[in-house]
Amino acid sequence: MSDTDKPLNFIEQIIQKDLDAGTMQKLVTRFPPEPNGYLHIGHAKSICLNFGVAETFGGVCNLRFDDTNPAKEDTEFVDAIKADVRWLGFEWAEDERYTSNYFDQLYSWAQHLVREGLAYVCDLSPDEAREYRGTLTEAGKHSPYRERNVDDSLDLLERMRQGEFDEGSKSLRAKIDMASGNINMRDPVLYRIRKEHHHQTGNKWCIYPTYDYAHGQGDAIEGVTHSICTLEFADHKPLYNWLVEHLPVPTKPSQYEFGRLNLTYTVTSKRKLKQLVDEGHVDGWDDPRMPTIAGFRRRGYTPESIRKFCDMIGVTRSDGVVDVAMLEHAIRDDLDKNAPRAMCVLKPLKVVLTNYPDDKREELSIAGSPNRDDLPSRTLPFGKEFYIEQDDFREEANKKYKRLVIGKRVRLRGAYVIEGDEAVKDGDGNIIEVRARYIEGTLGENPADGIKPKGVIQWVAAHEHATFEARIYGRLFLDEAPGAGDSNFLDGINPDSLQIIPAAIGEIGLNKAALGQGFQFERIGYFCRDSVSETPLFNQTISLKDSFNKPT
Ligand code: ATP
Ligand code: MG
Repeated sequence: MSDTDKPLNFIEQIIQKDLDAGTMQKLVTRFPPEPNGYLHIGHAKSICLNFGVAETFGGVCNLRFDDTNPAKEDTEFVDAIKADVRWLGFEWAEDERYTSNYFDQLYSWAQHLVREGLAYVCDLSPDEAREYRGTLTEAGKHSPYRERNVDDSLDLLERMRQGEFDEGSKSLRAKIDMASGNINMRDPVLYRIRKEHHHQTGNKWCIYPTYDYAHGQGDAIEGVTHSICTLEFADHKPLYNWLVEHLPVPTKPSQYEFGRLNLTYTVTSKRKLKQLVDEGHVDGWDDPRMPTIAGFRRRGYTPESIRKFCDMIGVTRSDGVVDVAMLEHAIRDDLDKNAPRAMCVLKPLKVVLTNYPDDKREELSIAGSPNRDDLPSRTLPFGKEFYIEQDDFREEANKKYKRLVIGKRVRLRGAYVIEGDEAVKDGDGNIIEVRARYIEGTLGENPADGIKPKGVIQWVAAHEHATFEARIYGRLFLDEAPGAGDSNFLDGINPDSLQIIPAAIGEIGLNKAALGQGFQFERIGYFCRDSVSETPLFNQTISLKDSFNKPT
């Protein structure tokens, strides 16, 4: 982490204490996504925390796919998750791991629990088991199979593994305490029957361990010292500890919980994001409106800005809701400093300079960015005709309007000062062209007559420019808290979250923009060349400032 003066967050304090006490040699963390969807901004927080502390304290972080639920998982998600973690700027220790790598070991530890009298095969159906489990205020009841003898349970477990029984007809349960105040301790299920093909193990298994059974043991096998997860797992910690305690695991990891990230106007649940994709509300997991890492990347967010945002929000012990404006601030801040500048007009209006020679062409040089000396300057072709933004011209206007007006002057960015003369209209009274004059000697100089222009506008040469589609994105949700209370999150969708401008025009160099390259389109906003589309397409990353679109 770059910010060394920052006080340690509570997780870092715990790690520092353990290092100081010598209770561990080397910090090992892990990021454990389930490959059942793409990573979202909430995961970025977990990634930055797990990989971040490993970097800070000279440890390592593993990437472990928590693949115990084959029905919903897919290698498409595995590949996307790996790409996203790398794009965020992190590298895991050695190869990625899979909980399924440990299925053999987990199975033999399950037999160990049975032999120790700490687990049994139960024949209650899932519905019956739920009834027996009791409630928050009522103790559960013992399963009639709880005292099944060890040999019978071992035999049935093996036959479960062989595929002899139907899904839901049997499960392996830990024998803990049906009266526990913590429902997770009421004889939790360790294995269930799922006759599913698995993306890593194929058809080898038809019983799969539960998250609760597999997770801590995976941590122990990998020598994870600090198993950092979100708060909803706090109630699972006693079970995590119970299993680590009662199994002959090679190391003793500990679980620590931190608050989930929630963002205003944003959905951060894989299930809901998947629904948006499956029902066609967006164009896929990497739609630039999605709060996924892949969507952010396609939209032009930078890894630096996402990491900065995660740093800004910090790590707390309670869940919180963060204003999405904070994320947007981090993006803008980064792009303002780093994005090359370019000129573009979304709604072109032609300007003809009546006093500029018909065939004359000039090449004007302009800085790559006022904030970056390392960028090469751009060469802009200039001629008698060019385009400006329709909004940048009015026939008459008050003093607050500092753009092109008849009888007034304005500076063209990096070029001449011009003065408006006449608006040419079509039969319906729409302005289709502006006649103007350029003031000689005003390249980089004020007009000799002392009448200075009030404002600067961008322009694009008519004789040589790039033409492309531009996509302007609004928030995907109009509701600040989509799906809050009893509402359906889909009701909060913004019907106008995508505006397509089929033929925007920009300076010629944009034709050569690399896929994914970001720009500040001067006076319009931050855009990036779409990384997928074959035809030239620029996505708006974010507006210049929040007041964009407000009339000046
Ligand atoms: P979702 O609720 O979106 O399905 P999940 O927790 O089921 O998320 P996993 O793939 O299991 O998704 O998550 C991997 C890791 O990311 C877990 O350690 C989880 O705690 C963490 N994580 C998921 N969502 C958030 C979030 N909103 N804020 C912080 N960490 C998160
Ligand atoms: Mg999960």
